[in-house]
Amino acid sequence: MALRDANIARLRDGLFDVLVVGAGINGAVSAASLAGRGASVALIDRGDFGHFTSQESSNLVWGGFKYLENYELPLVFNLCRSRNRLMKAYPDNIKEIGFLAALDETAPYKPWFAALGATAYWGIGLFGTDRPRLFDADGIKAEEPAIDTTTVRGGIQYQDAYLIDNDSRFVFSFVRSAIEAGAAAANYVELVSAERVGDRWVVRLRNVAGDEEGSGVGEEFTTSARTIVNAAGPFVDELNRAWGLTTEHRIVYSKGIHLVVPRLTTEHHDRVLAFFDDTQRLFYVIPMGRRSVIGTTDTRVDEPFTAVDDDDRTFLLEQINARMDLPQPLTVRDIIAERSGVRPLVVQSGGSDHLDVDWTSLSRKHEIERDDELAVVTVFGGKLTDCLNVGEEVADEVQELGVPLEKDLHNWYGEPAPATRAEFYRQARLMKLDSLRDKPDTEPLTDRLWRRYGRRAFDLLEMIRADPTMGEDIMNSADYLRAELHNSAEHEMIVTLDDFMRRRSKIDLVVHDDDVVGSPGLREVAEILFGDRAEQQLDEYLAQKPARV
Ligand SMILES: Cc1cc2nc3c(=O)[nH]c(=O)nc-3n(C[C@H](O)[C@H](O)[C@H](O)COP(=O)(O)OP(=O)(O)OC[C@H]3O[C@@H](n4cnc5c(N)ncnc54)[C@H](O)[C@@H]3O)c2cc1C
Repeated sequence: MALRDANIARLRDGLFDVLVVGAGINGAVSAASLAGRGASVALIDRGDFGHFTSQESSNLVWGGFKYLENYELPLVFNLCRSRNRLMKAYPDNIKEIGFLAALDETAPYKPWFAALGATAYWGIGLFGTDRPRLFDADGIKAEEPAIDTTTVRGGIQYQDAYLIDNDSRFVFSFVRSAIEAGAAAANYVELVSAERVGDRWVVRLRNVAGDEEGSGVGEEFTTSARTIVNAAGPFVDELNRAWGLTTEHRIVYSKGIHLVVPRLTTEHHDRVLAFFDDTQRLFYVIPMGRRSVIGTTDTRVDEPFTAVDDDDRTFLLEQINARMDLPQPLTVRDIIAERSGVRPLVVQSGGSDHLDVDWTSLSRKHEIERDDELAVVTVFGGKLTDCLNVGEEVADEVQELGVPLEKDLHNWYGEPAPATRAEFYRQARLMKLDSLRDKPDTEPLTDRLWRRYGRRAFDLLEMIRADPTMGEDIMNSADYLRAELHNSAEHEMIVTLDDFMRRRSKIDLVVHDDDVVGSPGLREVAEILFGDRAEQQLDEYLAQKPARV
């Protein structure tokens, strides 16, 4: 908590060039790009970093092949470019992946036509991935025997990319980058109110977590900023309204859910399977570690707070059971974890006519609006895939508001340089790091540590060299070393056990609740992360575990 306490101390009575409200992907990239270009930045979120929409995505970094159905060529072109850029900047975190789409008799497209579309998509993506392929039904079966090809006419494979670790850890990498560039970032700090006084915003903040004695829960304090970036995702309109700001755009919500289940693929686990559901909408089976994730859905809702309900579960399980040849049909008992969130979709303000259009055809593009009088930049909508553009566009708008920024050297994102990577791999090889692990089906430790920690991975090697017990797994069912926990405790601003289990790691998504709860290592995890608050954190975490059928 030392880092968070120090940052809260900096927020208290501080004066910043920019206050970024909301630390989902849009707020995190905004803070990273602004701090990286020399602005003094404060970043707050009333929950954990990336805890809302940004932790509920499909983890795909993609140009949106399916948006071609709505002829959104500029959107697809821009997203493909963003995808290519991210793949280049994050070669170890974002991997190209094949999407094998099986098309049955009810699918809206014949395989040859889908192949034509995939070729166009490949071209729109500037040939930044491997080429698409066309298959007949036997070819699909040979590629993935688990697909039920009884009514399949054929299919295609096209290429996109995905985040190997989870979305919220990706968000956190931008928060870290902002902190390293000098930003004061704090999770569990809520914006209560903000008032424009002269040439600045005076903002009332509330600490909604923390030590009862130290930086107190519920404590309110003030900070000031010349400008505000409203990156509150599904809540941007609420904040703008409170500040008396009118905008050309507003947000509507589309709910999407995912179910995490045991691995469904038998052939290549590093591939996404794509199917049309009964409503002719594409859904996917996406790899996540040793698990498969089924999703997603697209349901209009009026509230940003959602949960997976019985209808969602039944629908997705029925869809997948009808399209895959599984040894046993999947049931709710197979569900390891669930995710539910709302896409904040952008529409024009005023009138309700937009809501009469086909819901699933609403665009996924983002809009950025600047209010010169109140000095507010608002980010509407967006995708994880578009994050670098959002970071750059927000910085341009903030500059227009009069905050001087240094030239963009594009060094506020991306993995460390190849030479640094090579040195890490050399050191890991010399100490025989990979031989510390003999678990089946796990990736080499060297890859894992480098991907998760980048430059900080050198510290982990040093810890393991100094104390070999640091190289031991801390929970049998999860891939986490003792050294990683110590490192995370110091650098990752973990306030609750859930922050670690669900967002910094993806343990809660890929390990059964029973295995987590019964793991002898869980207490040690809590002790390393929270010291004398461990017991309280364990109790709170276990109390919120859902009772599953
Ligand atoms: C089901 C689903 C699947 C998706 N799949 C993909 C995908 O595969 N690829 C892709 O590129 N995109 C995908 N997306 C889209 C992407 O996840 C979202 O566009 C993105 O996460 C939105 O980020 P955000 O930062 O705008 O919002 P959020 O992540 O919701 O962040 C907003 C933050 O603002 C904070 N906040 C609000 N009010 C306050 C306040 N008063 N004080 C302090 N903090 C406040 C909230 O706590 C929240 O953390 C998907 C979305 C969904 C729902």
